[in-house]
Amino acid sequence: MRTLNQNSGRPAAKRKPRRRKPGRLNHVRLWILAIGMAAVSFHMYSWYYLGWNSIGKLSFSGFTSLLVGHFNMAAVFCLVLIISLILGGRLFCGYGCKLSAFQELTEWIYQRIGFRPQLVHTRARMVRLLILVPYLLPVLYTWQEVGLTTAYYDLGAVEPWTADIPQTVLGSVFYFASITFVLTALFGRRAFCRLICPFALFFQTFEHLPWVPRVQQRSRCIGCDVCTKACPMGVDVAGDILRTGAVKDPECIRCMVCVDVCPVKGLQYSLKRNNFPAQQPAMEPRFRESAFSVWFDFSLATLATIGGVWAATQITGFHVFLGASWGLIVGGIGWVAVRQFKAHRAKRMAHEQVAKEASK
Ligand code: SF4
Ligand code: SF4
Ligand code: SF4
Repeated sequence: MRTLNQNSGRPAAKRKPRRRKPGRLNHVRLWILAIGMAAVSFHMYSWYYLGWNSIGKLSFSGFTSLLVGHFNMAAVFCLVLIISLILGGRLFCGYGCKLSAFQELTEWIYQRIGFRPQLVHTRARMVRLLILVPYLLPVLYTWQEVGLTTAYYDLGAVEPWTADIPQTVLGSVFYFASITFVLTALFGRRAFCRLICPFALFFQTFEHLPWVPRVQQRSRCIGCDVCTKACPMGVDVAGDILRTGAVKDPECIRCMVCVDVCPVKGLQYSLKRNNFPAQQPAMEPRFRESAFSVWFDFSLATLATIGGVWAATQITGFHVFLGASWGLIVGGIGWVAVRQFKAHRAKRMAHEQVAKEASK
């Protein structure tokens, strides 16, 4: 329905959605992310096109290298990751992850073409739990079959990143970008992080450490909700601030968008506890759709993975089992997408109905 200009009574001109410009702190973060991605791209280029394999790969196989005492590039990567998790919580997600960069790129392109997908708060985040299982299965299987030492060598020697992405620079870019384009269009900003990434479950556990710096209240919050609307991770920032004086949601990746946008400059990223007592202690958390705690999620995923490996080796062929797991995951994601689409359409129709009745 076309709206009318209140002054002239003529149909109002369609307003172009305003482009979100990064604030100062978020800008710094985006630069750090971009520099990191340039380094990773150079690493891949040098591996595939210049043949510089001796530097080693950058991947989670470094955990295995650390376990067997081999200090290669992957081990350095994992060591830095562990230290950042212990000291800063999910800093890696905001400042170092390749998929973080691809999602920023996706958002930027969507903004340029005027497309603003709605951020959907959904129970689909439980999909992360399901994905963890087939993701870890091959790792545990390899450890069991060939032993830890051989596994670390084989994984580290094959290619620079991980075994599940195309082995060219352009192929990898296309692979990641296509994932983030589709998911962002369906579920809104940072959909991959919020709904799919299995590592988020592991990273979230570090968010409970008491010394991890957080976004804190700095001056009195006026409850305008601007921060909540701007948060790319769908965190109820205003709710957390009013309730506890700090952002305690383990989904926070320290992107600093909320700190930048607060109109009263009421937020800061700090180690120190703030001096503002909770303003609305009785307020219920909004947007917390998942009924499970992250610890429960994680324990369940670990148990399921161990059980899966056992089942794979005892009952059927490993590859059959792995294929079936991925089949179930893809089916599950499709099912959730259809449900989301239906819910979204029902909501839109309800809105249109209300608008129609109001205009009568
Ligand atoms: S949640 Fe996963 S994909 Fe998102 S930034 Fe963190 S590690 Fe990367
Ligand atoms: S709460 Fe603030 S810092 Fe954390 S993810 Fe949301 S906008 Fe970024
Ligand atoms: S933007 Fe600032 S003032 Fe507004 S709700 Fe968030 S913290 Fe409070």
